[in-house]
Amino acid sequence: MTATPPQPAAPTPRRKVSRHRGEGQWAAGHFTPLNGNEQFKKDDDGLNVRTRIETIYSQQGFDSIDPNDLRGRMRWWGLYTQRKQGIDGGKTAILAPEELDDRYFMLRVRVDGGALTTRQLRVVGEISQEFARGTADITDRQNVQYHWIRIEDVPEIWNRLEGVGLSTVTACGDTPRVMIGSPVAGIAEDEIIDATPALEEMKRRVLGNPAYSNLPRKFKTAISGSPVLDVVHEINDVAFVGVHHPEHGPGFDLWVGGGLSTNPKLGVRLGAWVPLDDVPDVYEGVLSIFRDHGYRRLRNRARLKFLVADWGAEKFRRVLEEEYLGRALADGPAPAEPAARWRDHIGVHRQRDGRFYVGFAPRVGRVDGATLTKLADLAEAHGSGRVRTTVEQKMIILDVEEAQVDSLVESLEALDLTARPSSFRRGTMACTGIEFCKLAIVETKARGSSLIDELERRIPDFDEPITINLNGCPNACARIQVADIGLKGQLVLDDDGKQVEGYQVHLGGALGLDPGFGRKVRGLKVTAAGLPDYIERVLKRYQAEREDGERFAT
Ligand code: SF4
Repeated sequence: MTATPPQPAAPTPRRKVSRHRGEGQWAAGHFTPLNGNEQFKKDDDGLNVRTRIETIYSQQGFDSIDPNDLRGRMRWWGLYTQRKQGIDGGKTAILAPEELDDRYFMLRVRVDGGALTTRQLRVVGEISQEFARGTADITDRQNVQYHWIRIEDVPEIWNRLEGVGLSTVTACGDTPRVMIGSPVAGIAEDEIIDATPALEEMKRRVLGNPAYSNLPRKFKTAISGSPVLDVVHEINDVAFVGVHHPEHGPGFDLWVGGGLSTNPKLGVRLGAWVPLDDVPDVYEGVLSIFRDHGYRRLRNRARLKFLVADWGAEKFRRVLEEEYLGRALADGPAPAEPAARWRDHIGVHRQRDGRFYVGFAPRVGRVDGATLTKLADLAEAHGSGRVRTTVEQKMIILDVEEAQVDSLVESLEALDLTARPSSFRRGTMACTGIEFCKLAIVETKARGSSLIDELERRIPDFDEPITINLNGCPNACARIQVADIGLKGQLVLDDDGKQVEGYQVHLGGALGLDPGFGRKVRGLKVTAAGLPDYIERVLKRYQAEREDGERFAT
């Protein structure tokens, strides 16, 4: 992808001016920026920072970077400064942002649909080893995330990524982020509909398009035709979920307005059925509603979920149909309840073409460049060269002949990438945490990994699906609100009254079957050191008291 030429920051909205001016919507005539974020977006489109990175910052170094680019527009190309090393979580809230900034960056590579070829995976692994000190995390939105990136190396990294069809464009920022897709799209035996053509067209229309590069905030997308509901559709701004329409056949059920973080909300169904060919138009319609009507006055009300909550599903659908699509959508059914309790595609599964796919579990999404390169070798030796990432920070190798399955599974085990994980290895996720994140208060990745080992040792017979999600701060990057056991990082008091790393506990969240947010157990905070004891107690009690088939969330 090449640099985007300068464009007007604010596209002219198509809506007439409304009387409601209170939330800073463009559709209400609010083009005067009402906060610092809106101002820097109006001053210059975030996409344009690429030219400055290529021609100035990468040549002249970190100190040449304009502060508005450093803490604002660089996100439009997937770059955030990482946390300066050695600053403990107690200082997160009291230090100025510039005191937390390291001179290195996190760089997010978007992997729409989680789809990678081995050629791409090899390049991802090489970049990790050459430019990112070996780091590479699989995120819970199917992306790859590097750390330790120097600004000087960014143009070369882009060259290599774009040479194999990958990009960091709008991987962060107030933009359409990565589009989550079923990692087994087009191959699963039980698939209702393959969403791949729609996802490709959505990318073609939107990525790098200045019409969508100044949204009120981030915009998250999910699409899947899998009956196991494998894209966490309930917590995306827009989601398309495969359904069989009794008259029209396979298509998608449309959801809008889901999101976690501040005021978490599950998405709502609009009751509309969308055929495959119409998905890109509907997607652009919802995206445009967000751009034009989304709230821009207060940052913490700038997600689509607040507009959906105020309008309701009926009005949202009417505006979409009448003002953006110019046609009515057919009514349609809700998705059926998934039969499977795990939705992560881990293990060995038959494809519709008779071959197999093998899903396996890195620890809390952490891999490294050398491992990714070896994985590319394995996928080529055993499959056709197609690899997928999942929204559970896991991975899948596709197209494996039956005779090759055992050898692949054993080879993966040798890389500590098991296709037969314990419930704990399978169900534990962790965000970036204090190792690299400037907002973090506590450690997450290493702690999640050691927690898995501890629980496997202490409760080896635990075989129920369970999700344990660790966040390093009150944000929601690891989806703590919808985990069986959600752990929100904060400083807590230990028995001696000393402030130490710990977690606020949320219990009983779920997606899929009976979705809902976990209950914050009043006053229940555990120290990091006491975490294995606490979880062991909770799970042993559940084992002892559960009725037949009773899930943890209930
Ligand atoms: Fe950083 Fe907090 Fe997100 Fe974790 S949840 S990655 S600590 S912002």
